[in-house]
Parts: sequence; structure tokens; C-alpha cells
Amino acid sequence: MGRPGSALTTGDELFIGIRPQRQIVTGVLQAVVSGIKRVGERLAAPFRRGDGPNKFRLSSMDTATTTIDGSVGWRNRPPALLTCPRCGDEIYQANARDEIDCPHCVEMVDPEEFADLELLAMECPVCRNRMRHGQRHPERFDFPEWATCDSCRYHWEFKHSYD
Ligand SMILES: [Zn+2]
Ligand SMILES: [Zn+2]
Repeated sequence: MGRPGSALTTGDELFIGIRPQRQIVTGVLQAVVSGIKRVGERLAAPFRRGDGPNKFRLSSMDTATTTIDGSVGWRNRPPALLTCPRCGDEIYQANARDEIDCPHCVEMVDPEEFADLELLAMECPVCRNRMRHGQRHPERFDFPEWATCDSCRYHWEFKHSYD
């Protein structure tokens, strides 16, 4: 069974490698600051249509005027709502690279351990609705490989295509 850290593409491995030591407080703070910056860039991204290597846009089959926004890749994953393994409350992970930090208790889970936690839902980065999610290869990966928003039709895929 794979997990996010082991099944990533070349670009994703980079951020795993630069993950800060959690005991170095300044490093964590810098990571938080840059994380917020990245989230801000990512939230703005859906409105800058057509730019960025991982953003794609598909014409709907039924009408030429409808388009579907989305993103591809684990690091472009929508925010996730997870269940805290210690207190059972909800943890909001805004970015796939962020520490999974429970606001209700002392639990702090490494982002690479994502697959060990129960995923409640992903949140649409455009309209903030809860997205449906699922797997395509449950025998290969133990984390979600797609998520889709029924409200605005934003769609996320772990990979463009599978071999
Ligand atoms: Zn907790
Ligand atoms: Zn949406």
C-alpha cells in the first residue's frame, strides 16, 4: 500500500525533502509563514484561469460555455478535514504540506502520515463546499486520488493519468 509520501511525482518529492524539523521553532514558524503565503497563492489561482503547469481547464461535453476548473497533484490537493486520532475532533489541513495540527488537543501529525488519519472530506478551494472524494487504485494507494465539488464542479486529481 502506498502513501502520499511514497507515491509522489518528482515535483512533490521536493517539498517532502525540505520539510522543517518540528523541534526547530524558527524553522516551523518560517514554514507556517510560507505555508500561508502558498495557500494565498493557491486560493487566488482558480481565478487566474489557464496559468500554471498543474492547472487545467476542460470544455464540457454538453455546453461550450461551461468549463471545469481543477488541479492535479498531491501538493495542489484541496484542503482536508481529518479526524484527530487523539481527541476525535476535526482537524483542518489547509495544504498538503502543512503539519496536521489539532486545534483541540496537543496532537501533531506529520503530513506524510496523512493516510493514517480518517479523512472526513476535502473542501472546495473555490466555493468551500465539501467535496466528494474517492480512490481509483485502492490496492495501490491508501489515500484519495480524486475529489470533486458538486456545487461549482471544481475537480482535483492525484495524477493526470495512470500507467
Ligand atoms: Zn485532537
Ligand atoms: Zn466548489
